[in-house]
Amino acid sequence: GGLVLAIADGDISPARAFTSEDPTVAPRKKLVVLGTGWGGMSFVKELDSKLYDVKIVSPRNYFVFTPLLPSVTNGTVEARSIAEPVRRMISSKGKQMEFLESECIDIDPVNKRLLCKDASHIRGQEHREFTVDYDYLVVAVGAKANTFGTEGVEEYCHFLKELEDAQKIRESVVDCFETACLPGLSDAQKKLMLSFVVVGGGPTGVEFAAELHDVIYEDLVKLYPTLMEFVSVTVIQSGDHILNTFDQRISSFAEEKFSRDGVHVQTNCRVMKVNKHDVEVKEKATGKLVNVPFGMAVWSTGIGTRPVLTKFMEKISQTDRRALATDEWLRVKGCNEVWAIGDCATMEQRKLLDDIAYLFEKADVDHSGTLSVQEFLTVMEEARERYPQIDVYMQRQHLKNVADMAEVSMYDEKHREKQLCIEEFKKSLGDVDKQMKLFPATAQVAAQQGAYLARCFNGLLDPKKKPEGPVRIRGEGRHRFQPFRYRHMGQFAPLGSEQCGAELPGDWVSVGRSTQWLWYSVYASKQVSWRTRALVMFDWTKRLVFGRDSSR
Ligand code: FAD
Ligand code: MG
Ligand code: MG
Ligand code: MG
Ligand code: MG
Repeated sequence: GGLVLAIADGDISPARAFTSEDPTVAPRKKLVVLGTGWGGMSFVKELDSKLYDVKIVSPRNYFVFTPLLPSVTNGTVEARSIAEPVRRMISSKGKQMEFLESECIDIDPVNKRLLCKDASHIRGQEHREFTVDYDYLVVAVGAKANTFGTEGVEEYCHFLKELEDAQKIRESVVDCFETACLPGLSDAQKKLMLSFVVVGGGPTGVEFAAELHDVIYEDLVKLYPTLMEFVSVTVIQSGDHILNTFDQRISSFAEEKFSRDGVHVQTNCRVMKVNKHDVEVKEKATGKLVNVPFGMAVWSTGIGTRPVLTKFMEKISQTDRRALATDEWLRVKGCNEVWAIGDCATMEQRKLLDDIAYLFEKADVDHSGTLSVQEFLTVMEEARERYPQIDVYMQRQHLKNVADMAEVSMYDEKHREKQLCIEEFKKSLGDVDKQMKLFPATAQVAAQQGAYLARCFNGLLDPKKKPEGPVRIRGEGRHRFQPFRYRHMGQFAPLGSEQCGAELPGDWVSVGRSTQWLWYSVYASKQVSWRTRALVMFDWTKRLVFGRDSSR
């Protein structure tokens, strides 16, 4: 083969950077991984650490199982249960890697050097800076909470991004209730103190609101019965619906459940400013400004770029972007030997239409200026590897193979002998490119990218080893790598009171209590170690038996 895939050769294939390597002669290359979240740790877990001199840099010496972070905000799960020490994860796999608990504050892609800063919390400890050199760099620093420049958010709102955030929220909720119990407060003051506002109706905001509702009406109601009349929970969402990235059935189920539960949902509202005890909200339809008072507010509206990457992106002429642009092999555009995965990266996929003339020319082996059905089939079969959107398209259209595709696109029964001109060829592929979507900022994407990249790195240096997964050998003993492909395994939306929505591949949507049990089992099985799995399951059981712990 290799006609079409010549596009992938040379410049684009990561193999180029490594083909001259011989691991038995050359000293091991310095590989630095930034970040110990979903992307970084899945890369590290899959990486053959004997092949490289590996250093991991992260300000946190633990991995966090983020899907259970909302459950930490109300004490359903303890913070410790969802954190796994990085050093434990490395050594349990018998790997030789160095960990430096520090924050990368500058990337110099020309001299291949990082500036790092000690992340120590010891009181009075100076935050020493030092440099780390790399040959290969994997950036997996994730994202930070995005305030969209809204005034007052940093001062007066909680975020829900890190483990500390979840712990602080838990303390604040209990604090609001205890403070409202103190003598001398008017009813209005109690009402203010017990108004909880969540800004953002995405999965995190909704799940948090649901968890908050649960702890209030399942546990705190028994401890603070006289305060219940003062409590309110409000979700402010800028779009038409909450959970608008989910199937509409799940989104409606969530809205109905919240309305039954008495959780206020204010859609089509944009927060303009946050003050000490209220948010200023603009109703999109009318342009009217209203103030929504709060005792505690959580801001969960999306993600933004970490400062170290903003600086880096300027250096490599990737300005005005939210995330590092990479090609389909996850290599950062505009510099060499740097890869980026997870929330801090966006993979730019190549369109078939960009290469249409090239594809047509290569396909037309008999130089007739047109494509016969056989020519069409051959080129599409080869192009599948380079352009994953073809497979996505076939899946969506329920087509088994490219022959089916040819049949529906233009060579139907009556037109078996038809010859396609380039314009027709182009038209037939227009819908295929429409299947390309940016990957969502999820743990699923980050983990799959980390594992994919590690397998590429494992295959890079050892030509004798038979590589698996996306690594392919073709022609002159060279490694060929398929572009990264994302496999969507579905998503959950836990909605509180043991109710949950789920969207699984194949348009399978389910809502209700049984889905919550599916959620329990999936998240128990996805735990990174038997230790955290046991802890999480113990926490769930403890909650079922004793209720949640309300101490601060
Ligand atoms: P992260 O996991 O955020 O990891 C980034 C790492 O980089 C961290 O270790 C951080 O300490 C480190 N770091 C930061 N700055 C630096 C620096 N300057 N130098 C070095 N290291 C640095 N996704 C799902 O698929 N399903 C869910 O149910 C789900 N629920 C979520 C719930 C919450 C509350 C949140 C916040 C997220 C949730 N997500 C979920 C999203 C998921 O957590 C992210 O998409 C995922 O963590 C992205 O992985 P990452 O490796 O890119 O970044
Ligand atoms: Mg990471
Ligand atoms: Mg993480
Ligand atoms: Mg993080
Ligand atoms: Mg021809």
